[in-house]
Amino acid sequence: MGLETDMPTTTNKQRVMTHLFTTLKKRYDPAEPEARPVLEQLLYAVCREGTTREQADRAFSNLRERFYDWNEVRVSSSREIEEVFADLPHADVRAQRLIGLLQEVFETTFSFDLEILHKKGLKQAAKQLSRYQGANDYAVAWVVQQTLGGHAVPLDDASIRVLRRLGLLEGDQEDMEALRAGLEHVIPKARGTLFNEVISALADEVCWEDSPRCSSCPLCHDCPTGQESGRVAVGAERGGRSKPR
Ligand code: SF4
Repeated sequence: MGLETDMPTTTNKQRVMTHLFTTLKKRYDPAEPEARPVLEQLLYAVCREGTTREQADRAFSNLRERFYDWNEVRVSSSREIEEVFADLPHADVRAQRLIGLLQEVFETTFSFDLEILHKKGLKQAAKQLSRYQGANDYAVAWVVQQTLGGHAVPLDDASIRVLRRLGLLEGDQEDMEALRAGLEHVIPKARGTLFNEVISALADEVCWEDSPRCSSCPLCHDCPTGQESGRVAVGAERGGRSKPR
């Protein structure tokens, strides 16, 4: 006899994951990700972390339109890049990271081309990318997933928030590699890019940092946080006193 506990079991996680894909794919129906060279994926990841696909696409195409080439971006002031990123959160930090990355790539390869990474093994390529100061775990995982053909799920703060609330990430584990490894185990490789798209769309539409709109969320029935907030709301409606969370 199976015991239902608050601790999400692997079977529960699989069930939530399956429902998540079916429901959110139907709801957001994201387009296939755009193919880009390795360097561009690395730079795009700086725009994409903690934002939506639409925001990142707009910022990235503005960047391409406003500057002649990557060298011009490298030698521009961070203020100029910040203006292009004006719609993104933490535009100043992103601008500095972008310029820093271009500088690092230029100093190490004397070019703006990282296609050579396709010829290295995945581990070796990821290791080389992670040596860049401006490339965090998200950016490396993004490049591995989007263009190097590996199975990596880039996790930004918004995705981690949603996944913790859904019970798909547990504990206070801060080790990003371990967090990703757990998820990569339950997400089929072929669905990795879809997963990024739908989770960031959900984070943007309803699963806000403050006051998530659980009653409008398509995953409310599967989500322990959504269920809890429903119980609290019903308790409050009935004049019941809810325990502080
Ligand atoms: S039910 Fe609420 S907490 Fe759970 S995923 Fe949806 S918005 Fe986030």
